[in-house]
Amino acid sequence: MIEHYGWSDALRLAFEPHARAGYVPGRIIVQQREANLVITDAGQLSARLSGRLRHEAREGGHPAAGDWVALSTKPTEGTATLHAVLPRRTAFVRRAADSVQTMQVIAANIDVVFVVTSMNADLNPRRLERFLAAAWQSGARPVVVLTKADLSEQPEAEAAEIARLAAGCPVLIVSARQGLGLDGLLGHIAPGETCVLIGSSGVGKSTLVNALLGEERMATQDIRASDARGRHTTSYRQLVLLPGGGLILDTPGIREVGLMDADVGLSAVFEDVERLAQDCRFSDCRHGTEPGCAVRAALDEGLLDAERWAHFQKLSLEQTASGLTKDRTAQEAERRRQSGLQRVYRSTKKNLRDQRS
Ligand code: GDP
Ligand code: ZN
Repeated sequence: MIEHYGWSDALRLAFEPHARAGYVPGRIIVQQREANLVITDAGQLSARLSGRLRHEAREGGHPAAGDWVALSTKPTEGTATLHAVLPRRTAFVRRAADSVQTMQVIAANIDVVFVVTSMNADLNPRRLERFLAAAWQSGARPVVVLTKADLSEQPEAEAAEIARLAAGCPVLIVSARQGLGLDGLLGHIAPGETCVLIGSSGVGKSTLVNALLGEERMATQDIRASDARGRHTTSYRQLVLLPGGGLILDTPGIREVGLMDADVGLSAVFEDVERLAQDCRFSDCRHGTEPGCAVRAALDEGLLDAERWAHFQKLSLEQTASGLTKDRTAQEAERRRQSGLQRVYRSTKKNLRDQRS
């Protein structure tokens, strides 16, 4: 069962300690207000967070749609308790609506991002760039999809123009109305891989998902002709299987992720921290025990809030975990930096706890 949802040998390995603890694996197919709907070998269950996880979630580490998790289950009651989240291969992160400081993961373990734009709307290069940036940042592979080819006189020419903006990404031409290009699109998702569709409202995402699933799974609304933008529809959306063995995650919040804050990276939110770090004696300072560390000094003098610093470190870890770097040597360096950060992060957390008690 969970094999269909992308369960793999690598995940089995990562899960071993949890298996020894008596937990079973599952994947979050939709995150709801109170509980997460998870798919397990025993079917769909409604999973609530364990007390420990709920505590961690308050610090920004909430499980998200697409996450692989460790559960204790009560299949007869259709419920489960969620005890741990497996390391994510990729993640879409955005600022929490209620705070500039809190980032939240809104989709995890996505392999392919279809950046959807339509032929009838005026091409907005800045907007496309933002969606592409969000896609790259997540660690997944972006693929540009040009919809509504039936409305264009020369779809190929438009595609060529977009290919220039989206260097390195495949650009696909589709028409859901004519059933054109759908197989080509499915060809970009291997069995067990998960894709998402992102793009502005009205470009044809719901229609495309319907066409891919071959049924009217999602409600679509007629476009407002005047401004070429569709209205929002709130339908029940989750992680679903595609013909061909791939998966599509179409949960709330993911579709327009790029517009919200592709450009609000850590730097924008933590400018002060990054400025401080520039004053460290060593350019590769881990802000642990190095001499001449400006971050430590600021913490000691109370100029930098310890909570804020801990949060920054946590987010840096999340970002590196999302696999921004593709190059082998850069990855090596990242890994080293990350384990250093992790060590410092743990000791900072401990200090905070000690301070509180
Ligand atoms: P979403 O907001 O991105 O999910 O967009 P929708 O899927 O709701 O589509 C917005 C409008 O575009 C609807 O009126 C659709 O009927 C229309 N539309 C979607 N795909 C196509 C297409 O391939 N060709 C044409 N001509 N119209 C389309
Ligand atoms: Zn330092």
